[in-house]
Amino acid sequence: MNIHEYQAKEQLAKYGIGIPAGHAALTVDEAVEAAEKLPGPLYVVKAQIHAGGRGKGKFKELGPDASGGVRLSKSVDAVRDNATEMLGNTLVTIQTGDEGKQVNRLYVTDGVDIAEEYYLSMLVDRATGRIAMIVSTEGGMDIEDVAHNTPEKIKTITIDPAQGFMPHHGRSMAFALGLSGDLNKQAQKLGKQLYTAFTDMDCEMLEINPLVETKDAQLLVLDTKMSFDGNALMRHPNLMELRDVTEEDPAEVEASKYDLAYIKLDGNIGCMVNGAGLAMATMDIIKLNGAFPANFLDVGGGATTEKVTAAFKIILADPAVEGILVNIFGGIMKCDIIAEGIVTAAKEVDLSVPLVVRLEGTNVAKGKEILANSGLPIVSADDLGDAAKKIVAQVKDAA
Ligand code: ADP
Ligand code: MG
Repeated sequence: MNIHEYQAKEQLAKYGIGIPAGHAALTVDEAVEAAEKLPGPLYVVKAQIHAGGRGKGKFKELGPDASGGVRLSKSVDAVRDNATEMLGNTLVTIQTGDEGKQVNRLYVTDGVDIAEEYYLSMLVDRATGRIAMIVSTEGGMDIEDVAHNTPEKIKTITIDPAQGFMPHHGRSMAFALGLSGDLNKQAQKLGKQLYTAFTDMDCEMLEINPLVETKDAQLLVLDTKMSFDGNALMRHPNLMELRDVTEEDPAEVEASKYDLAYIKLDGNIGCMVNGAGLAMATMDIIKLNGAFPANFLDVGGGATTEKVTAAFKIILADPAVEGILVNIFGGIMKCDIIAEGIVTAAKEVDLSVPLVVRLEGTNVAKGKEILANSGLPIVSADDLGDAAKKIVAQVKDAA
């Protein structure tokens, strides 16, 4: 789960980390009020969307010459003008895709006198089973470009979670940032605070770009992105409240209501499968047969009729879907129960595309019989390879 910049900064501030003052705003009036609470004379109005690259982004409605999603404003009036222009419009950045994201929230924050910009991020490194802290002197730009052009300017510090953040980690990090004197001390302290915040909140990723050194020699977090491990969120009800579903794919939000693991993909064959491994194998075999999956969808172990119906509705709501492949292994669930669920659901949603079903497991013969007697044009398949071939052929025939 991702959260907005202003929310992430509020979390980091709890750990004593230096953040410029700022307030979130949903309306132009709130943006003006936010600015009035700040000392001025320099304000920055920042679009709050779950995507980076806002500074260099462009608003769809405003033409190529208008400013982007991070706007320096030299007066409260300028804050008002910028907020008016930004709210409700669609910001396109390198991370949003061409469709962009509508800006519904703003963050009005202190303008900072920047001396240097640095890069810092942390993530769970699955390869080492440790936490990686990645730092670079090249802040404020695309870290992918830095990695490509000048990889020697990126340093990774690996922290063993069993040991925690040790003083030598802090020294390595401050050294990699090229800092000396008091700034070096500030960086070491920041490293420790960030590590504590990261592990406390079960973060998956925390990126600070840029981390800045101000003209009066303070280290401040100017921009941050934070995401949490979804499997650990039940330990953090306060963080769960920060979820902004308007930033998420509507189909994925709907799926999460039914506890379905759904991820939209680019192909035209909808997949409904139980078990993540089987779902991956199903997607692979669709590709092997020359077509592409429209989604990943795992209905889980105890798929009820209600869940199967919700899954059908979500798959069919995607206009790209031209056929559906159901691949269910009846282990915990029995195949006849699943078949009844599929038939009920298919009738309820008024199935408009070809449907191939492969059932395997307990009571499979009974399950197939239910599908055959349903009066619906359901094509039964015997195994995974057969199922994939059949759905690809059905979609080709229908086209
Ligand atoms: P994004 O990464 O989405 O483009 P940032 O918050 O990193 O958004 O802003 C882009 C650039 O704008 C920063 O690299 C920094 O130079 C400038 N900037 C952002 N916030 C401030 C601020 N509070 N004061 C001064 N400059 C800022
Ligand atoms: Mg940034």
